[in-house]
Amino acid sequence: MTARILVVDDIPANVKLLEARLLAEYFDVLTADNGFAALEICDKTHVDVILLDVMMPGIDGFEVCERLKANPRTSHIPVVMVTALDQPSDRVRGLKAGADDFLTKPVNDLQLISRVKSLVRLKTLTDELRIRTEAARSMGVEDMLRMGDGRIDEIAQVLLVDGRANSQERIIKALKPVAAVTASSDPQAALFEAAENAFDLVIVNANFDDYDPLRLCSQLRSLERTRFIPVLLVTDNGDEQMIIRALDLGVNDYLARPIDPNELVARTLTQIRRKRYNDRLRLSVKESIELAVTDGLTGLHNRRYLDNHLKVLFNRAQARGRPLSICITDIDRFKQVNDTHGHDAGDDVIREFATRIRSTVRGADLACRYGGEEFVVVMPDTTAEAAAVIAERLRGMIEHRPFALKASASSLDVTASMGIATLTPNIETPEQLLKQADRALYQAKSAGRNRVVAAAA
Ligand code: GH3
Ligand code: MG
Ligand code: MG
Repeated sequence: MTARILVVDDIPANVKLLEARLLAEYFDVLTADNGFAALEICDKTHVDVILLDVMMPGIDGFEVCERLKANPRTSHIPVVMVTALDQPSDRVRGLKAGADDFLTKPVNDLQLISRVKSLVRLKTLTDELRIRTEAARSMGVEDMLRMGDGRIDEIAQVLLVDGRANSQERIIKALKPVAAVTASSDPQAALFEAAENAFDLVIVNANFDDYDPLRLCSQLRSLERTRFIPVLLVTDNGDEQMIIRALDLGVNDYLARPIDPNELVARTLTQIRRKRYNDRLRLSVKESIELAVTDGLTGLHNRRYLDNHLKVLFNRAQARGRPLSICITDIDRFKQVNDTHGHDAGDDVIREFATRIRSTVRGADLACRYGGEEFVVVMPDTTAEAAAVIAERLRGMIEHRPFALKASASSLDVTASMGIATLTPNIETPEQLLKQADRALYQAKSAGRNRVVAAAA
């Protein structure tokens, strides 16, 4: 695992110490001796994790952290606060400033390396999602992300897995202001619970007499439905072996007993904030992919999608020696609809046309809007004869039922022409198949419209 770590501290000896330890683990290290320099580096260069001293002249670590988290260009970089005092109030203040973790001086080697590694791992995932979202930036996705970032508007759902009733009670009480807690003392039942409900966080309290809590952590990480839910482990103070193994398994954070309620709240909020950020990224990636292949007016797939997917269906049919047919349909004299009834009425007709196509084709067929008033249906496992029947049925469904025009509360007779083509041994590419269907469509138009013509085999 290689990553670039920025070490920020006003005392050169501290910087040197952390730098040496990180270099020994083959991390790439940058350094800064004040808050402004740190902000500048983060803004200008790529940084994976920041180790940030709290007490510095000029702007202190809390403020640097707040500014980093407020800037959309740097808000995703994990920040570890390094505090001189083991003060719970400092930790809480740091976590409230948006810090992802903290270390106390003198810094323990094991904690340093394990926490940096776990944050780097988390950031790798976030980065991948960010890269995929990059393409969607122009659609305002960035704004959408920023808008919700750092704010927890919906009550968080937390699953608490804890073997003891009294500690369950204490944790539920502490989290009451920020989360709805579902408690379970049976780890296996909890796993099912986590898989079936949308939790924002699972807290595993390692206090079972006869159960290894890391087993549950590992199961949560490997199940498809739970692998994105953050896990916060509560361990006995000083149980470093368990912490190392937990972080290696992908547990997101840990907390030592006795639990400080403020720290519990702050760490819970940090995990939830991060989860929601990643959820939004994942959703926007999905949405931007869908947007890119969907026609806005009809909701059918667009030409870009057809061009890609036709290749897949074509190759599959060829490889398996299965039939494949394609139908291109174009609304007759559509220009007149626009000219007579207006463009909005034209849009109504296109939408309704798409709805009728959708209701005619099977699930395995691919229907898309190819251009203005032109549609393509790709039909796998469909012979020329079957395609002719389907096209004829569609043609009839257009002709025999008038199209309603919303704007004028009237209706209109519409017809369409269709060209069909079927895969034969002498067709070598999807483009040739499309061209054949297009030629057949042209013949249908010249022969008087409102008819189906099949390309000669
Ligand atoms: P033909 O029977 O030969 O197909 O005649 P046509 O009038 O349908 O053919 P032509 O291709 O000349 O005209 C298509 C018209 O479709 C022209 C264009 O303005 C209109 N059009 C294309 N896209 C849209 C759209 O999204 N909405 C509306 N309302 N009209 C569109
Ligand atoms: Mg037309
Ligand atoms: Mg046309």
